[in-house]
Amino acid sequence: MPESCAQDLGRSPRVSSDGLRSRGGRPGGDAATWRGANPSDRTDHVCVIGAGAAGLTAVKNLREAGFGVDCYERETGVGGAWNWRHDRSPVYASTHLISSKPFTQFPDFPMPDSWPDYPHHSQVLAYLERYYDHFGLRDHVWFGTEVTQVSPTADGRFDVTISGARGGGADRTQRYAAVVVANGHNWSPKMPSYEGLADYQGEVIHSSAYKDAAQLRGKRVLVIGAGNTGCDIAVEAAQQAARCWHSSRRGYWYAPKYVYGRPADQVNDLVSALRLPLAVRQRIFHRTLRRTVGDLSRFGLPKPDHKVYETHPIQNSQLVYYVGHGAITPVPDVARFTRDAVEFTDGRTAQPELVVLATGYLPRFEFLSPELLNVDAEGRPRLFLHMFSPSQPGLAVAGLLQPDSGVFSLMHWQAVTIATWLRLRESHPEKAARFWRRHASSTSERYNHAKVKQSTRHWFEISHIEYLRAVDKTLRELDAVA
Ligand SMILES: Cc1cc2nc3c(=O)[nH]c(=O)nc-3n(C[C@H](O)[C@H](O)[C@H](O)COP(=O)(O)OP(=O)(O)OC[C@H]3O[C@@H](n4cnc5c(N)ncnc54)[C@H](O)[C@@H]3O)c2cc1C
Repeated sequence: MPESCAQDLGRSPRVSSDGLRSRGGRPGGDAATWRGANPSDRTDHVCVIGAGAAGLTAVKNLREAGFGVDCYERETGVGGAWNWRHDRSPVYASTHLISSKPFTQFPDFPMPDSWPDYPHHSQVLAYLERYYDHFGLRDHVWFGTEVTQVSPTADGRFDVTISGARGGGADRTQRYAAVVVANGHNWSPKMPSYEGLADYQGEVIHSSAYKDAAQLRGKRVLVIGAGNTGCDIAVEAAQQAARCWHSSRRGYWYAPKYVYGRPADQVNDLVSALRLPLAVRQRIFHRTLRRTVGDLSRFGLPKPDHKVYETHPIQNSQLVYYVGHGAITPVPDVARFTRDAVEFTDGRTAQPELVVLATGYLPRFEFLSPELLNVDAEGRPRLFLHMFSPSQPGLAVAGLLQPDSGVFSLMHWQAVTIATWLRLRESHPEKAARFWRRHASSTSERYNHAKVKQSTRHWFEISHIEYLRAVDKTLRELDAVA
């Protein structure tokens, strides 16, 4: 393990030499591994929910810290969002990484040199499958098993109820020392509530149901939403559909995937590493975009109403190109739907046959009572480091982040922090309690100096550099306390 995650701020990854093999037993199956008298008691084991990127790195890092781990995954394979055979996978046939390879991969497991800067979703899945094999995680993941309930017990542990996914198998409850929730936050569609939408006669789908450009072929298509997915689908509609309108509520900065011949996030990171004030970095970014992309209002796109870094970055080299070719008609927000048309806030109308709602996703934790995650009135979990529930020292969430970079390396460092914290809690309970009293209530830190827009889309928006610094500080303190 690198000594500090500060080393992960724009450096080459290193390969870990070992891959721990199974030391844990089958939950409920291998009597030799049960330490408690009650077979449903997994004693000091940790339960991980989900075998996507966040869950896999949690299992791997908890194992390396010496914990027994049971990971439950409702699907039949690893990869989470990147496994497009999964019911809830949000990826579509043409999805490629938006963040470049070195800024996405785990710090101890690089993607192959032969892969492109922005691998295809099938390569990302292959990468996660290799990670799973390389680190010997096979004996710790239980597929086709859904966690349906997590309840704290009086002694600070957790009862976890599992059942066969899709209603198969009887429920079983097992007791764990700690739980790491890694269930992802890009699978539960956020549906807009436009006037008249329910009575609209055309076809309406959420982008989670968009899988292939064939769904657009020859149709008049309206794409609502200018996040990365909305822009990708608008670009595909520009090439496949009979007509494409693209509705966005505000103007955005559309950054190209390459700047000065390098992936844009790598250039951005170089500038960030100079530790220039935010305002100077914003000026540099604005100037670079003006020189590379040009003035967006010339293409009929609204001028951004905010500075760079104040919304989640949109990486798309093709959107402006297709707007420039007349294949995408930019339109403002939808005012209302009538039975057979859509009216926009500027008075224009359109009659699409297919409406794609690229309106994003909301986090959902149906197996936990909201107060356990300190969920506020809007439905947003308020957690220390976006990870730790202030009321539950043994409950952590991994992957609840939306960074300005790739997310796997951040998940790795979250997992290291969770493992270090749980180990301290076990070895030095009093010191751990003092640490918790000092930090656990710090739940409003944004890890972002920019004035990020207030919207559900930006609940977990962080600067990867600022977040890694906070994690590094926490890890140093945990190490010093121990
Ligand atoms: C279109 C799109 C493009 C993206 N592009 C990038 C990119 O370029 N770079 C990047 O870093 N990130 C990108 N992301 C973000 C992406 O979500 C993350 O890369 C990553 O896949 C999230 O991993 P996760 O483990 O947190 O969640 P998921 O990958 O969603 O995994 C969660 C797992 O938990 C399982 N699960 C859920 N509930 C339960 C339960 N109750 N019991 C048992 N199992 C359960 C699910 O089946 C799933 O396998 C993109 C996302 C989208 C939607």
